[in-house]
Amino acid sequence: MTPATSRTRSTEWFARATEVMPGGVNSPVRAFGAVGGSPPFVESARGAHLRTVDGDEYIDFVASWGALILGHAHPLVVAALEEVIAAGTSFGLPTVAEVELAELVCSLVPSVEVVRMVNSGTEATASVLRIARAATGRSKVVKFEGCYHGHSDSFLVKAGSGLATFGEPSSPGVPPATASDTRVARYNDLDSVADCLADREVAAVVVEPVAGNMGCVPPDPDFLPGLRRLCDEHGTLLVFDEVMTGFRVALGGAQARYGVVPDLTALGKVVAGGAPGAAYGGRADLMRQVAPDGPVYQAGTLAGNPLVTAAGLATLRYLADHPDLYDRFDVAGGRVADHLGAVLSRIGRPGVVTHVGGMFGIFLGVEDVRSWDDVSAVDREWFGRFFRAALERGVLLPPSAFEAWFLMEAHLDGTLDRALDVLEEALEVSAR
Ligand SMILES: *Cc1c(COP(=O)(O)O)cnc(C)c1O
Repeated sequence: MTPATSRTRSTEWFARATEVMPGGVNSPVRAFGAVGGSPPFVESARGAHLRTVDGDEYIDFVASWGALILGHAHPLVVAALEEVIAAGTSFGLPTVAEVELAELVCSLVPSVEVVRMVNSGTEATASVLRIARAATGRSKVVKFEGCYHGHSDSFLVKAGSGLATFGEPSSPGVPPATASDTRVARYNDLDSVADCLADREVAAVVVEPVAGNMGCVPPDPDFLPGLRRLCDEHGTLLVFDEVMTGFRVALGGAQARYGVVPDLTALGKVVAGGAPGAAYGGRADLMRQVAPDGPVYQAGTLAGNPLVTAAGLATLRYLADHPDLYDRFDVAGGRVADHLGAVLSRIGRPGVVTHVGGMFGIFLGVEDVRSWDDVSAVDREWFGRFFRAALERGVLLPPSAFEAWFLMEAHLDGTLDRALDVLEEALEVSAR
């Protein structure tokens, strides 16, 4: 483990980047605004380790924001990509690999009978919402505060003053009329959902079955079954946004882990094996409404392209052949959460470490996390110190108190133990 050095090159590149790109980045959190300093620029990565242009090496828990589950540059994924790449990178016509990937996804994810590939999670959730609206003839949608479903207008909405009535845009540029079709409920609070559904105008409840975009907030045992029941009672469709949890918290996603089957599912990240792809699917009668089978329009020039199908197939086939990996994630994840939880107790400061399988959240300065109300109270300053202390010692966490971090198979070779030592020390020094 090489400790971070001066980071001269990264700093210079970041200065150049800010001249020509908003914030110097192609996705906001990469700018390190929440933790201070400037981001390291990546040169290459292998397994659990990431190398920067400064020559520093980090144990990586960003894992491409959860898109990677085996490790960086996994030999099987690299070989699959090498095999297809010389044969052409996009045709805009059907390929065999698309069928193979679709069959595999349908066989692994309980709710998915028919599936469509798209290019990003944002596209997957926006497409699913269109189907739900078409199928129900209703226009309202319920989301949960603290959940993220990509950046389409309907989901860039926060709770308005009258909770469970009208949402307000959480970004300029989102038309108030669009935002007012989105109702915002509280995670793990079924009463707030019942309020939103009462007038039977809601097309869909969209939820991250394990919240992963406010750190990792697991569902209470009755939450997902309760959503299923409430949706059935009100003629509303239940949509799981499994862009993060799909193939992550179980081979069949959160719906397999918790035994609750949604009507429609959005997938992304792991499904494309680190290539830029995503998918959505669900009940056949709903998915058959999508063009050209039905009238709901959705299309994609690069959708299901050979790079995505190759990386996705290599990854999902490996996962399907090694289902024990999920048990190993559960055990290792429990070990990390217990260990860091014990460190927090020893320090005598409040804090919670959550995990579902190999997906984590660390919430410093609070006692319990069940919804955004709890999560938003975390000690951001402390997180910043903790993050920087870990980084200086060679461990890269997501640069925000509100992001989940992830295990990859490549961590499980002893790398995780070295990282745990670092995280323990980082917690100790940052608590002061
Ligand atoms: C990452 C993520 C998205 C957005 O996916 P993109 O590929 O970044 O557009 C949507 N929903 C959830 C739950 C995510 O974690």
